[in-house]
Amino acid sequence: MHTSRPLWADSPRIGLRTRKTPSRSDYDVIIVGAGISGALMAHALADGKRRVLVVDRRQPVHGSTLASTAMIQHEIDIPLHSLAGMIGREKASRAWRRSAAAVEHLTHLVADLGIACGFERKKTLFLAGDAYGSRALRMETEARLAAGIRAEMLSAATLADRFAIDRTGAILSDISASANPAQMAAGILRAAAARGAEIVTPLEITDLRPTADGVVLATADGGILAAGHTIFCSGYEFLEAVADRNHAIVSTWALATPPATPLPGWLNDCIVWEGADPYLYLRRSRDGRLIAGGEDEASEDAYASPQKLKAKTRTIRRKVEALLGIALPEPDHVWAAPFGTTRTGLPLIGRVPGLDHVFAVMGFGGNGITFSQIAAEIVSAEIAGHGDADADLFAFASRTS
Ligand SMILES: Cc1cc2nc3c(=O)[nH]c(=O)nc-3n(C[C@H](O)[C@H](O)[C@H](O)COP(=O)(O)OP(=O)(O)OC[C@H]3O[C@@H](n4cnc5c(N)ncnc54)[C@H](O)[C@@H]3O)c2cc1C
Repeated sequence: MHTSRPLWADSPRIGLRTRKTPSRSDYDVIIVGAGISGALMAHALADGKRRVLVVDRRQPVHGSTLASTAMIQHEIDIPLHSLAGMIGREKASRAWRRSAAAVEHLTHLVADLGIACGFERKKTLFLAGDAYGSRALRMETEARLAAGIRAEMLSAATLADRFAIDRTGAILSDISASANPAQMAAGILRAAAARGAEIVTPLEITDLRPTADGVVLATADGGILAAGHTIFCSGYEFLEAVADRNHAIVSTWALATPPATPLPGWLNDCIVWEGADPYLYLRRSRDGRLIAGGEDEASEDAYASPQKLKAKTRTIRRKVEALLGIALPEPDHVWAAPFGTTRTGLPLIGRVPGLDHVFAVMGFGGNGITFSQIAAEIVSAEIAGHGDADADLFAFASRTS
């Protein structure tokens, strides 16, 4: 058993050849962070003409991307009908549609680049739970259909019959996927490098100063780098100048059973999450592991506690066993990590208020991979100067508001 070692840490093809120092001191774009967000951002921006630099203080793909359970969902953590109550129906529907489009775009990108990362399209089963019961799920199905997003409400009887699950209802939908997140991010970084992006690790950015036409960055080794634009794709860690008060860090836990764990056949095609607080989610990996997670806690450091790792992953295992009605073998990987959230479940993507040439992406919650794709689309459009019609959905609030 690995103590808090993510499943993907031992994957083949996640190592990248990187430079130790930048080849120059000025770039058109500097991306801070070489996880899935930095990878997609670099790929969207590297066009063979722009000078793009990606830096990371760790090895590439060794931040929260390595910890991700990689359920690539169009479903945002806050159901559409609830989000509509928070930000209005038009905006909530747009956010959900944009999320669905992002999963389609990611599917094409991974296929076009030929990245071997176990990427598979999946359906999602969203189960009624203590936060969203069958009545709420019925409202949610109607809201999704009205927004043009496919969804099928399943009754308790259908759920019992098709999935042998005892809940008051569920929503079955397509437009989801799963993958090995580390292989996916590493493959996209390689493709960005082939398009001219330079990747330098380990290199830490410690400070930034705006200039008239860009930004200068200080590095931990005493260097200075200049950029036309800089984009913080730094996961859950942010320099003070970039941090946002609407973004909170929580701890989360996950486990994986050994390959070829006996599991219900329908798990080959479906990923599962529930409308409960804290919620449980689970999926099957290509090699037949059960990967499950949840038990989130509003704490920046609870993830580091060995006692909590043991207790939380035991709870996740028991919940999965109760849900599926099977006994699971002892997990061979258990891990915990922090991640960033927002009240609405929508990420923060865009220009940092007061810093015209600085962008940041954060608050990805449980949808980090889908939201990273949206972030790459929005920020690359802004830098190209034509903007994105959905940028308003994810923009940072002005600091005086
Ligand atoms: C246990 C767990 C399960 C999850 N499950 C899912 C899931 O099923 N589906 C899903 O879509 N999402 C999931 N997520 C969320 C998803 O993994 C993250 O949102 C996503 O990986 C974030 O990617 P990133 O590139 O933004 O950040 P990271 O992968 O954390 O990369 C940021 C990088 O920035 C670097 N960095 C930070 N500061 C600096 C600096 N000052 N200088 C230089 N480098 C710096 C870090 O070293 C790091 O490598 C999960 C997260 C966790 C923790």
